[in-house]
Amino acid sequence: MAQKRVLKMKRGPRIICKIFITLVIIFLILLIAFLYVKHKITSAGYSEEASIRIMKEFKIEYAVNNPDNKTLNRAFESSDYKEKYLDKYKQVKFFDQEHLIKNINTLLDRGYSTRDISIILAHGNDNDVTEFAKKDMVKYLEEFYSYDFAKLKNYDRYVKYMDEEGDDEETTIIMVNLDLDKDNYDTPFDVSKDQSLTVLANKHHELGKNYVPNNLVTVKEEYTKDKDDSIKGRKEAVDAAVEMINAAKKDGLNLLINSGYRSYEDQKDVYDTYFKLYGQEYVDKYVVNPGFSEHQTGLAFDFASGSSKVFKESKEYDWMIKNSYKYGFCYRYLKKKEDITGIKTEAWHFRYVGKDVAKIMDDGDLSLEEYYAIYIDK
Ligand SMILES: [Zn+2]
Repeated sequence: MAQKRVLKMKRGPRIICKIFITLVIIFLILLIAFLYVKHKITSAGYSEEASIRIMKEFKIEYAVNNPDNKTLNRAFESSDYKEKYLDKYKQVKFFDQEHLIKNINTLLDRGYSTRDISIILAHGNDNDVTEFAKKDMVKYLEEFYSYDFAKLKNYDRYVKYMDEEGDDEETTIIMVNLDLDKDNYDTPFDVSKDQSLTVLANKHHELGKNYVPNNLVTVKEEYTKDKDDSIKGRKEAVDAAVEMINAAKKDGLNLLINSGYRSYEDQKDVYDTYFKLYGQEYVDKYVVNPGFSEHQTGLAFDFASGSSKVFKESKEYDWMIKNSYKYGFCYRYLKKKEDITGIKTEAWHFRYVGKDVAKIMDDGDLSLEEYYAIYIDK
């Protein structure tokens, strides 16, 4: 009978094997613990990257007790993270900006509250905030930035303008945002790509040489003052003008169009003619430089009365003041808005902006510049 053989491992390798198994078990336990904690942190809304930092810094409880906080998450992800500002980060409203945490640190160093910092971040992009953070702490932050259309990058200009002009904050912000603290035609804003019905053309907003409005159509002779077949405008504006003229007719009035779209070249001819006749001072005051005229948008018309030579004294003018907004037009160059529009009052010049915008402008007594500053340019 064969002797039963018992395979026995030698003592040395047996111990090594036991140690190895123990290590594997310890490793597995640690791994499970690690994954469990990481899961807990990510379930609280933190990214993988942030959760590694949170564990390293032993801020697990803190993170879990402050879930879904995007600023805190970004702070944990960032190499600019500073432990001393941990409680501050969570109070700052999140804005997705590249140097967010670095800028928050600088602003905190300068003594701003977290509320101030949220205001600062809300009114500029990453670059604006970075530039702003270079300044010493400033005054009037709340005063200017309680307006949502106030721009961080314009802060110094607001202060300068308010000191010089003594206007209130809201007026100051509107004037500066419209570049009215600069000279006419000085570094104008390029609107050459703007084909919207609210495109703003003035001495600080340039359409340029190549701006031609979409959908130019001819106004039928019967609606023009001189039975003219060459007056053009953007289709939306011409249709609205015709609707308005027909409505005025029902009220017994004879409203007519005197002028519409003017190309860059047309405006240049006008400018050159007046320049030769009366010189620089005259054109600076009364003629808009080519590329800056609202007539180039195809959305502006000069109106006339069929019964009175002076439009301002006509019944048609009175009717337009009361009713033009219902057809999407605004009275563009009012006497009281001359400082904002930069144009001497013109009774005959109306601009199509669409019915909704015209209503808001009429209700709020706003020029197109003010409408643009408050509602469009945020
Ligand atoms: Zn005009």
